[in-house]
Amino acid sequence: MAEKQRFIQQAAQKAADAAHFARLQFNLGRYQQALHRGKSRWQQLEQARRIAEARKQEALAQLPELLETFERRFTANGGEVRWARTAEEARRIVIRLMKEEGARTVVKGKSMVSEELHLNETLEAAGCEVWETDLGEFIVQLAGEKPYHIVTPAMHKSKEDVAALFARKLGLPENLTPQQLTMAARRILRRRFRTADAGITGANFIVPDVGGILLLENEGNIRLSTALPPLHIAIVGIEKVIPRLHDLALLLPLLATYGTGQRITNYNTLLTGPRRAGEKGGPRRMVVILLDNGRSTLYHTRPQSDALRCIRCGACLAVCPVYQTVGGHTYGTAYSGPIGSVISPFYEGFCDHAHISHASSLCGACTDICPVRIPLHELLLENRHRAAHTCATPLPERLAWRLWQWLMRHPEWLERVPHAARRLSLRLVGRMGWQPERAPLEPAPASFRRWWKKRRPS
Ligand code: SF4
Repeated sequence: MAEKQRFIQQAAQKAADAAHFARLQFNLGRYQQALHRGKSRWQQLEQARRIAEARKQEALAQLPELLETFERRFTANGGEVRWARTAEEARRIVIRLMKEEGARTVVKGKSMVSEELHLNETLEAAGCEVWETDLGEFIVQLAGEKPYHIVTPAMHKSKEDVAALFARKLGLPENLTPQQLTMAARRILRRRFRTADAGITGANFIVPDVGGILLLENEGNIRLSTALPPLHIAIVGIEKVIPRLHDLALLLPLLATYGTGQRITNYNTLLTGPRRAGEKGGPRRMVVILLDNGRSTLYHTRPQSDALRCIRCGACLAVCPVYQTVGGHTYGTAYSGPIGSVISPFYEGFCDHAHISHASSLCGACTDICPVRIPLHELLLENRHRAAHTCATPLPERLAWRLWQWLMRHPEWLERVPHAARRLSLRLVGRMGWQPERAPLEPAPASFRRWWKKRRPS
């Protein structure tokens, strides 16, 4: 309930923040133009989406077997695999690995799974120094914030905001250009790559037939985070598996198109294990942590399990009118927007986060845009349905709905409810679910039945 109240308050605050809205519209507008250009390069985009959906569905149908194949092959390549059932277990594994290697400093590639685990806080509490190395992540870390968007974490900041932040936190001159800001971050991070004890990343895909994980990025920071430190830990959700290496021929350009409008992401790195004899680069030790943390429950929950097809392109966030209004932080979960509202309750506590499935107009724009054809708005309805059956509802609300249900079944009694009482009940409904900015609900002067009785042709 506390989380729901926080959401409602923050949503109202963001909805009234004109500067925030303008910034978001500007950045989302630029993304939508890039997406439009990217989509126009495809000759048979609909067919590509159908095939991508089928490939991901095929992988999910054989999830246990494919994960075991990955484990076998990756281990044969010299890597190590750990299985984590919960977020707590994953955090414990990371801290144990850091201790085993005597590691204190970490360079991180952008990883939403590490956000899901609140890993930075855990590492810092264990005395480690953590450096986010993706530029957007570096910015939000410096600002003491969480990522705002699953692809572009600092989307809510203007270049002036970033310049002021760098001046405040890094002692740089004010009014630097975006190029100068980027070069400043680069200079700071280069030193960290060279001296870090460990690199921590996520992965975009698990490729079982070669026993590898695939990481996509545009900045080269993931390559440095995985190649220079002696220890590389990759934390990956179990749903990231694909059937075979050659499926990437479709999935890579599709993800690049929907993620940023690019033909292909700048760096596509397939890692199949630690440094081998005779190789000059790469970590001495590479460990992949396969994370469940609610994914098995989601896997066994139909039809919400369709959401496990997600390739984290972020397109559904950009088209969602609710996300466009309240922004990413309001959701209070690692994953925001329509996909976040479907999966986060399974990963972060269903009843504590069930309210975000109501953060949708159910317009279906998210479903229309999704490259792997996840019926997001229908899954949001399914979550609402599940919440109604599994989560406790406050007694007054339960009684109000019971009364409403009874009246709907007995329209003859509904007729007898006086106009003043109707008005009062609508006011109460308004207080329960309507934002104060919305016009109060008013009953019609006469019910439809009465109106019809007078006009019905005899
Ligand atoms: S649900 Fe679909 S549109 Fe949204 S992030 Fe995932 S793949 Fe992209």
